[in-house]
Amino acid sequence: MTKHSGRCLCGAVHFEIGAEPMMAGFCCCLSCQKLSGAGHAFHAMVPETGFQISGETRGYEWKADSGNVVTTSFCPVCGTPVSGRSSGFPGMVTFRVAALDDPSVFAPQMAVFAKRLQPWDLLGPALPRFPEMPPASQ
Ligand SMILES: [Zn+2]
Ligand SMILES: [Zn+2]
Repeated sequence: MTKHSGRCLCGAVHFEIGAEPMMAGFCCCLSCQKLSGAGHAFHAMVPETGFQISGETRGYEWKADSGNVVTTSFCPVCGTPVSGRSSGFPGMVTFRVAALDDPSVFAPQMAVFAKRLQPWDLLGPALPRFPEMPPASQ
């Protein structure tokens, strides 16, 4: 597949995606709302072998609504969250689709934790929504 590259706002952190995402979706949980400053974050998940990152990052570990322990990696200079790992998905890395140089290359397949959706966050009506995580990906 075509490689896709991304970077944080200041450019100190750079990453490359060399695998097709196994999942791509919006997460509307309250933590993603805080982390994104918006109604949801757009994550895509690839095997760690398909993810390369360069530049210094810092990690913040937190417990997600799913019960998984998530580590969010962000640029210590500009604060952009770029990637993450979850205890529920060993060997996988998520990245922020909005941090890609061309964020239009991947489309969301679903919205998870839609029970937290804010009334002003108008998702496309055709996008499948799950109140929490869909059973198949837990
Ligand atoms: Zn940065
Ligand atoms: Zn979330």
